[in-house]
Amino acid sequence: MPRPLIGITARHVNTEDGFPATRILRAYVTAVEEAGGAPILIPPELPEDGWRVLLDRLDGVLFSGGADIGLEHFNGEPHPSVEEEPVRDALELPLLRAAVDADKPLLGICRGFQVMNVALGGTLYTHILDQLPNALQHDWHDKPRETLAHSIRVEEGTRLAEILGAPLLQVNSLHHQGIKGLAPSLKATAYAPDGLIEGIELPDHKFALAVQWHPEWMRSHEEMGRLFERFVEAAGRSA
Ligand code: MN
Repeated sequence: MPRPLIGITARHVNTEDGFPATRILRAYVTAVEEAGGAPILIPPELPEDGWRVLLDRLDGVLFSGGADIGLEHFNGEPHPSVEEEPVRDALELPLLRAAVDADKPLLGICRGFQVMNVALGGTLYTHILDQLPNALQHDWHDKPRETLAHSIRVEEGTRLAEILGAPLLQVNSLHHQGIKGLAPSLKATAYAPDGLIEGIELPDHKFALAVQWHPEWMRSHEEMGRLFERFVEAAGRSA
């Protein structure tokens, strides 16, 4: 079977020379390659008649990490540490809904996890430390990305539990926002010790799953590689 075609949402950045660029961190690309997929970039500036053509041809969509979702999309509480990425919101929120409607396999990571919740009607803490009482430190950006930051408890009977194969795991943590109100159609699949949701899935979908941590930086852990493999396999079945 040919490798399933996996679109990865990309960021708009400026290079050191000041040129606009479209960028995906290599860890996402490598994780998809190692799992048997053929990765392709989804530029955030693409208009709807562009991304709809892409979505039609893709076998799966990976919603990658990045900065914060615009507060207007979920009536979020303003906070000085919020850094928005509006060009990505404009593409990713409708793209996620379209992928769900088309029953396309999708995997969300960090920002992608939050995009999935907001696109389907959920809300976010805009700065966990100031808004969730007794919150753990979830923002470990000053440490190497593979640093194990906290444990998660995985809910029995979920697709995530079946993939990860253990009820308790250590994960990295590179986020300052998190799910406040869960979208009505979503099921929470994993929790941090402070009660914050770290995994979500759509129960009746072919494969629509997202995690708040960064499994692409934890590929030395077999179960994190398996997460990408199962996503790519689902994409292959829907090709
Ligand atoms: Mn966390």
